[in-house]
Amino acid sequence: MKIIMLGAPGAGKGTQAKRIAEKYTIPHISTGDIFRANIKEGTELGKKAKTYMDQGLLVPDELVVDLVVDRVQQDDCANGYVLDGFPRTIPQAESLDAALAKLNDKVDYAINVEVPDENIIKRMSGRRACLSCGATYHIEHIPPKVEGVCDTCGKELVLRDDDKPETVKKRLDVYHEQTQPLIDYYNGKNILKEVDGTQDMSDVFNDIVKILGE
Ligand code: ADP
Ligand code: ADP
Ligand code: ZN
Repeated sequence: MKIIMLGAPGAGKGTQAKRIAEKYTIPHISTGDIFRANIKEGTELGKKAKTYMDQGLLVPDELVVDLVVDRVQQDDCANGYVLDGFPRTIPQAESLDAALAKLNDKVDYAINVEVPDENIIKRMSGRRACLSCGATYHIEHIPPKVEGVCDTCGKELVLRDDDKPETVKKRLDVYHEQTQPLIDYYNGKNILKEVDGTQDMSDVFNDIVKILGE
């Protein structure tokens, strides 16, 4: 099962993708997590990506497409995967489709997690992330067991630099301009599924399971 998560920054793509990955035993591939790991390790890719990410801008397509196309051809992806944060532009989607077509393959579902902009700004200021294992929490909705500490790995939780309100506004503009057109793109391919992302996390997940099957 090959799944793409669509939605504004903070819509809950990562939260749902992790649960999908667990339930269907497929890898969760988050391009944001891959970039943050590269930044942490100080790689060339990380250095390049950081200048864009800090401004709330997208990293250029050429820095992300090959990376994802390689990743989805690794052995653990044989039974499928859930892509979170990719594609984010029409050219990225076209490159992915072209690469999959060469392998006689295709995306099965594009799940759009729908959340209005008003809710997003509130959510992002409460998001806390573990830069060590990629887990995300929310200070009100999904708090960790111990404040400021990751349940999974015990490391410190942080407010991501790009989750400050000014940068979130920029990221929302970028989303509407460059990423939202993907909704029509996948609708045109008859694989678009919409879920109401304003519900509780577990209700959103139940709706997704209704789409993907038990
Ligand atoms: P969120 O989960 O809040 O939507 P991500 O972790 O997916 O944010 O992405 C953080 C940042 O990483 C983005 O704002 C962008 O700068 C960069 N990024 C992640 N994925 C992509 C992509 N597919 N194309 C371009 N930039 C990306
Ligand atoms: P995305 O990957 O789309 O950027 P996240 O999954 O990181 O979004 O979620 C953004 C923030 O909102 C996080 O703090 C997360 O814990 C919280 N969150 C996710 N889903 C819900 C939900 N259904 N209701 C309330 N808060 C949520
Ligand atoms: Zn952690």
